[in-house]
Amino acid sequence: MSDTLDPDDWPAFRAEAHALLDAALDRLQGAGEGPVWQPLPDGIKARLRAPLPHDGGGDLDLLADILPYGPGNTHPRFFGWVHGAGTPTGLLADIAAAAMNANLCGRDHGAIYVEKQVVQWVREMFAFPPDSSGLIVSGTSMATLVALKTARDARLGFDCRKTGIPGAGLVGYTSAQSHSCLARTFDILGLGSEALRLIPVNDAFEMDTDALQKAIAADRAAGLTPFFIAGTAGTVNTGAIDDLDTLADIATREGLWLHVDGAFGATLVLSDHLRPRLLGIERADSVGFDFHKWLQVNYDAGFVLVRNGAQHLAAFTQTPEYLQEGRALAAGKPWPQEYGPELSRTNRALKIWAQFTRHGTGALAGVIERNVEQAQYLARLIEGAPDFHLSAPVSLNIVCFSHENPALNTDIVAELQLGGLAAPSTTVLGGQTVIRVNLTNHRTRLEDMDILLQGARDIAARLS
Ligand SMILES: *Cc1c(COP(=O)(O)O)cnc(C)c1O
Repeated sequence: MSDTLDPDDWPAFRAEAHALLDAALDRLQGAGEGPVWQPLPDGIKARLRAPLPHDGGGDLDLLADILPYGPGNTHPRFFGWVHGAGTPTGLLADIAAAAMNANLCGRDHGAIYVEKQVVQWVREMFAFPPDSSGLIVSGTSMATLVALKTARDARLGFDCRKTGIPGAGLVGYTSAQSHSCLARTFDILGLGSEALRLIPVNDAFEMDTDALQKAIAADRAAGLTPFFIAGTAGTVNTGAIDDLDTLADIATREGLWLHVDGAFGATLVLSDHLRPRLLGIERADSVGFDFHKWLQVNYDAGFVLVRNGAQHLAAFTQTPEYLQEGRALAAGKPWPQEYGPELSRTNRALKIWAQFTRHGTGALAGVIERNVEQAQYLARLIEGAPDFHLSAPVSLNIVCFSHENPALNTDIVAELQLGGLAAPSTTVLGGQTVIRVNLTNHRTRLEDMDILLQGARDIAARLS
């Protein structure tokens, strides 16, 4: 036995690796075959139940055997929540990333240059200035945390990093349809989730900007300190886009930080046809979005973009003696770890770089535009159906609808999933559980909408 953890028999390991690569490629080439989702078989669950291995030497067949048992988001008829499908390109990038095993905290090495290039591309996407900053993060939840902490510290003065924030009275605003990560972030940052005011929405599920102005005035009158507005570009329930330009006007007038949660919707910037829907995003102080949703980068990859790069740095930088800048490998400050809470960071830059380089923004915009068309198509099918009706306007890529007997909605969704035909999810609108179809998948085709609706209809007939 060798005394490292490297293989004793490299040729055998090479053969094992090639076989697993082939299994992975087979899985991706056949992504549209088989059930969308299927439960993990009891046999595999039993194999997993093993004591902590002491001696090792076990076979890794599980790595191939588990391939069909993901959430299903690689399949064209995965419509649940907001999941991207990923690409085979991501497999290539992850092979390189695993072999490099780079820690992207900072320092001067190849992967850092790739991340810097990705940051530059995002500036370009959103037409942000050269002194804006950005960080690749795990997802929009983490992007929200980084943005909100920067906003909070900028408002209170960066000394609050040492002195804390007792009794600061900070309050922020977002719509009642905003993602739960915003309230969670208010909680994490010690502001309290109740300090995030949930402003009512209009019939289009967009923030009511008159109600927003009244809430700000009421909080000021109560002696509190408004500091933050989070607009949403693409709400998770219905895909609504807040009136970002009006939010930017209000933020400017009131001296508030404007953040845009654009987890999937901000990526409309890549489409000439859809970009006008985001008018105002170019005035945001910060934007959070995901590469792993509509841009189809493999999990996980999100991004936070901050207009004032100096403030972003001031909110997170920390330089203990063992992380000082030096020559050679220790060069290149500021490092990514000075822009967020994580020190060790995985190499997400390669897969983002590979996705843009291989597919280009044109093809990525094409995915977005096709998904929006599919949503419109499904909406028309439902509008013309005697047995289903829309539960919310379809403004983007999310279709919420209901059977004429709404009591069946939950079971229709579960039965569609169990049968492997499709995987929509549910949400609650106006107190009623509805069927929710989200389209952020480059593999989905128009006919999948017909298959879905017919499947739902067949199940409803069976259930009634
Ligand atoms: C998905 C989503 C989030 C959270 O993003 P993660 O990448 O899952 O952390 C936030 N906001 C909206 C609108 C989302 O759709």
